[in-house]
This record gives sequence, C-alpha cells and structure tokens, in this order.
Amino acid sequence: MNVHDSEKVAALLEGVGFVAGESEGQADLLVINTCSIRDKAEHQLYSDLGLLRAWKAEKPGRMVAVGGCVAEQQGERLLGRFSHLDFVFGTHQLRRIPELVASARAGDRQAAVGEERSPVHRFDLPMASRSQPEQGIRRKAFVTVMEGCDMFCSFCIVPLTRGREISRAAGEIVGEVERLVASGIREVTLLGQTVNAYGRHDVRRGQTATVGTMPFAELLALLDGIRGLERIRYTSPHPVFFDDALIRAHGELEHLCPHIHLPLQSGSNRILEAMRRRYDRERYLEITRALRRARPDLVLTTDLIVGFPGETEADFAQTLSIVEEVGFVDSFSFKYSPRPGTAAEKLSDAIPAELAQERLVRLQNLQGRATLASHRTRVGEETRVLVDGESRHGGGQVSGRDPHQRVVNVGPRAGSPILPGDFVAVRIVEATPHSLRAVAI
Ligand code: SAH
Ligand code: SF4
Repeated sequence: MNVHDSEKVAALLEGVGFVAGESEGQADLLVINTCSIRDKAEHQLYSDLGLLRAWKAEKPGRMVAVGGCVAEQQGERLLGRFSHLDFVFGTHQLRRIPELVASARAGDRQAAVGEERSPVHRFDLPMASRSQPEQGIRRKAFVTVMEGCDMFCSFCIVPLTRGREISRAAGEIVGEVERLVASGIREVTLLGQTVNAYGRHDVRRGQTATVGTMPFAELLALLDGIRGLERIRYTSPHPVFFDDALIRAHGELEHLCPHIHLPLQSGSNRILEAMRRRYDRERYLEITRALRRARPDLVLTTDLIVGFPGETEADFAQTLSIVEEVGFVDSFSFKYSPRPGTAAEKLSDAIPAELAQERLVRLQNLQGRATLASHRTRVGEETRVLVDGESRHGGGQVSGRDPHQRVVNVGPRAGSPILPGDFVAVRIVEATPHSLRAVAI
C-alpha cells in the first residue's frame, strides 16, 4: 500500500516538473513515506530525519517532506520537532502535495492532515508513476480499490491513520485496469486495507460517499474479462469477508492467481477474541478448506502476531498447531507492539520481551521448515514465471514470481536473454528456504 502511495506521490510531483532522482545526493526534494504499524517503523523515521539535517544543509534549496501514517498522526508536531522539515502530508491529502511544495518554496511550512471522505479527493489522482526498467517492460501494477478500515482490531493503528472505509467506483477501477493493460501491464494487484470488504458500505449503510460499487467477487469477474490481463491478485483480505461468491471465484476465474495472503494473527480463540478479529479458529479453517475445494493448488500465506497481552503458552501452542494444520507456505510474524490510541494499548498483562522473542523464533523455525518442505514438493513441476529483474543470487539468473507468488530464480537461457517483463515457461529444479530455482524450457 505504501509502495503504491509512493508511486502516486511521484506522479503528482512529476506533474509539477520534478523527475525521479537516482540518489539522495542528486535530489532537491526528499519525501519520506512512513509506516506506523509497529513502533520500530516510527522510530526509524525519527532517526532518518535527524540525519537529514546535514543533507539539507549541504545545498541551499533542498527540501524534506514526510507523508504517510506517522505524518497523519503527528501532523504539526513533526514540523515543531524538526525545524528542517518543509512540509507534512497525511494519508488523505496526497492531492495537496503540489500546493504544499509551492508553499514550502515560499517559506510557508504546512502540515496537511485529517480525514477526507470525498472519493474524488481520495481516488481521483493522476495515474501512478510507473518507470520502465532499463531493459524489458514493466508488467505489474497496483490498483487501489478501497481505502481505510472500520474493523478496529484491538492491536491495530490502521483505522486511526487511514480513516473510515471508502470504496472506489467499479467503473473507475475497470477503466484504470484497461488503461494499464493497454500500456503493457499484465498483472494487477488490487489494494485495500480489507480489500474484500470492497463495496460493502453501499449495501450496509447506504452511504453516498461510495457509489457505483459492487460485491468484490463481481468486481473480480469484470476484471477477469479484460483481454490481455493475465494475472489478478489482491491484498489484504480479511477472513470475515470471504463469502461463498468469493470462494467460488477462486475456482472459476481464469486469471485469478492461486495464492491468497490471508492474515490470521493467532490460532487461539481467546486471543482472537481479545484482538477483536471477529472469527475463530474453526471459521478460519472452514474458509481455508472451502477455498482449497474450489482451487486445490491454492497457496496460502499469512500474518501472525506473537506476545499479544495475556498470551499463554497454551495460546501460543494453538498458533503453532494451526500453522501446521493450514499448511501455510509462508508467513510474516511479528512481536506485538503496543500502538497509541488502540484498545490493546490499555491491556495490562504484557508479555516479557524475551518470552515474545523466544516465541517468535519458535514460530519462525516451524514456518521455515514448512516453507522448505512445501518448496521441495514442487521440484520437477513446470510453471510460468513473470520476470522482475536480475536475481540477487547472481550467476546470470533472473528472478520472478510464479502464479503462486513464490520467488523463482531462473538460470540463463541459451540463445535469447530473459528480460524483465518476460513470461518464461520453466521447470523447477531445486528448492531453497526462500525461493525456487528453475530452468527455462
Ligand atoms: N488489514 C490486514 C493487515 C494490515 S497490518 C488484516 O486485517 O490483517 C499488517 C500486519 O501487521 C497485520 O496483519 C499484523 O500481523 C501486523 N500488525 C498490525 N498491528 C500490529 C501491532 N500492533 N503489533 C505487531 N504486529 C502488528
Ligand atoms: Fe488493522 Fe487489518 Fe484489523 Fe483493519 S482489519 S484494524 S487493517 S488488522
């Protein structure tokens, strides 16, 4: 989501004459797009900003701006704390960036924050900047379908930084995807904080702020019909919004990829309730089984939190066991980090840091073994890779993703080089802990 917001910021700046620089040394304006999902990300901003004082002093006219979730929460306070900061823009105020640059140039430092409910204001931005790779063609793009979150999970700061849920009209989404496909894009990832809640406010509250939406499964079906679009993904869905139509879509839509990143957070019903996730272990398992009936080769990945206040060894054991039961091919796991303004911040039974760390390591070891075992089952399989670029493993290999969103490193092809944006038919020859190795066939 933040990567895509950065693309939007770049497009807005290009609109007023900026060009993307290669390095900080070249830049006249440096924009930091921030995350505040855990406190580590927030602290990173403060240390980076401290260092930029010297950068700014090196050359007259240089500007520094901060956007994103920390900007949304801190607003004016950031300007007060960092005198070398030129402007601040919150998550709803991207549109105002050109104006903020102009004010800053005139010496007027502003913080534009606060919620904006107009879909025009939020979604009607210039097409995101999509620089082409030096060689090859850019094939992948993000497309925003909804923003904000009304779920208020007790640990999560997102509803406070991204505001209330708002969906974009389906016609606009389809129009954007058609334009992208015409420009060479072959894979889109639909974005939303709870992406499969798309459109629900039309129905639930009759809100006029979101007109022209439809159930998420219908949106997917419309996009599936766009000629030339080969891969459709979406992130992140919430388990609560998996209805029968969406499950069926995974069995029926030709271009919908066989991978879902489906955040679980915990395997313990007690903890899920304290987290206010609104599903239990049994319901989560039921959804994954139904999805696999619809699409037997479906790959599931997830997000997990360890050390939520009051998490006992028995609760944690439930997380370990559900990870094995579902057979996640991969997961992101995090130590619980208390966030300001959330319901969980007020809970008193914090888990000692060392214990949370120990649980994290145990969980990650278990996942590491499961990931490798799953990768091993794929050796010998033929698949199709969309190439992103050179592999960091060297040896002339390129790296890309298969339909399951696994990283595949492909060895050099005799005769014709493989370029970014190419779709290559490959055979998997080796499994490694984090990726697959393949040869072109
Ligand atoms: N909308 C998605 C997740 C968005 S945040 C969902 O509903 O699941 C991305 C991930 O960050 C979450 O899935 C969660 O695992 C993690 N996360 C969020 N808040 C956190 C916190 N306070 N401490 C630790 N991890 C957190
Ligand atoms: Fe945060 Fe996701 Fe819960 Fe929304 S649904 S509050 S984004 S974890």
